[in-house]
Amino acid sequence: MALIVQKYGGSSVGDVERIRNVAKRVARWFHEGNQVVVVVSAMRGVTDSLLSMAKQISDIPDEREMDMLLATGEQTTIALTAMALHSMNIPAISMTGAQAGIITDEVHTKAKIQNITPQLIHQRLGEGKVVIVAGFQGQTLHGQLTTLGRGGSDLTAIALASALRADICQIYTDVDGVYTTDPRICPAAAKLQEISYDEMLELASSGAKVMQSRSVEFAKKFGVLFEVRSSLNDNPGTIVKEETQSMEDVVIRGVSLDKNQAKVTLVGVQDKPGYAARAFRALSDGNINVDMIVQNVSHGSNPPTTDISFTVDKPDIPKALKLLQTIREALGVREILSDEGIGKISIVGVGMKSHSGVASSLFETLATENINIQMISTSEIRISVVVDQKDAEKGVRAIHKVFLE
Ligand code: ADP
Ligand code: ASP
Ligand code: MG
Repeated sequence: MALIVQKYGGSSVGDVERIRNVAKRVARWFHEGNQVVVVVSAMRGVTDSLLSMAKQISDIPDEREMDMLLATGEQTTIALTAMALHSMNIPAISMTGAQAGIITDEVHTKAKIQNITPQLIHQRLGEGKVVIVAGFQGQTLHGQLTTLGRGGSDLTAIALASALRADICQIYTDVDGVYTTDPRICPAAAKLQEISYDEMLELASSGAKVMQSRSVEFAKKFGVLFEVRSSLNDNPGTIVKEETQSMEDVVIRGVSLDKNQAKVTLVGVQDKPGYAARAFRALSDGNINVDMIVQNVSHGSNPPTTDISFTVDKPDIPKALKLLQTIREALGVREILSDEGIGKISIVGVGMKSHSGVASSLFETLATENINIQMISTSEIRISVVVDQKDAEKGVRAIHKVFLE
């Protein structure tokens, strides 16, 4: 008998018929004699529509209330999934994140899991029940409801698999696994049999939304091996695991595109020690993550000034601009600009560590397509470029053709 954690994303539970299909799949594993813990997301589109209602009421909604609102999406799905299993005579019980013992820090809308006490889950499994857990949510030590950031049901599943010492963690979604790039953008994308944690992490944190990046970080840290596969068929998926020697033979594993970032430019920051630090301190105090940063050469004298551009997630823009306005004068910033029309393309592969010439081929490919590069950043196994959003998908296809076809 194995203990299996399965996670079903929004499209897999997109309507009542799909929830029935999920229940049938769960039933199969249950009847084979396994203990099954199921993590579900909100039905497709539900979280987005809750968010849009909140935005119609306030530009910067209260984050505690936002969590109260967003957590309702997953609660609908756990109850419906449990009912679907009951209708097939399978004993099942739904649990909120709090009931499942998921304890988080206090950062509303982006909470981090601090601890999991899964006694109640073990108890219900021991009674022969399938346990259905609401993804994406937890509770602080003070009893406040929190959510784990967009795509956070992946994290719920990985963290539960780790806490329960599950034998398998299966992430069911609407594609057959992890592809060389988003198959919706590039029809030539190919499914990967396996990928290392590091590569999956770089792809996920640079926009491949097939896995939430924090969930991959967690899996790497605690050695949770998991499989990404389809809820629509029985094809084998992609295994995500420790890097093996042969993985380095492939220079580029995948290409990702992030259209969810915006660029902010501080025009005319005084080019003196401590000025940039103050701007970024204000953002980090507001729990806003900054990704790419570019500082231009300074101009003028008395005092010399410079422009600093950086990217943040689009939903953080109103809060970021508000925070920056409060210190604008103190920093001598002439103007704060924001541009939501950008796309960040990244290429990822552990083989980059041992192969040269990748950056130049990337830049040449974009030049051939007449695509201008606005920002560049790199890690040991990734190169990212920011381009105009209207050129981004064309850029991904061109890069995929050169590196992966
Ligand atoms: P779920 O609702 O199951 O969590 P998501 O919509 O969050 O599913 O993630 C699945 C989607 O991720 C796919 O439909 C696909 O368009 C997109 N995607 C982006 N990059 C990749 C990739 N490299 N491989 C597979 N899918 C990808
Ligand atoms: N429902 C949440 C979201 O849409 C969490 C998830 O689907 O994983 O972001
Ligand atoms: Mg997802």
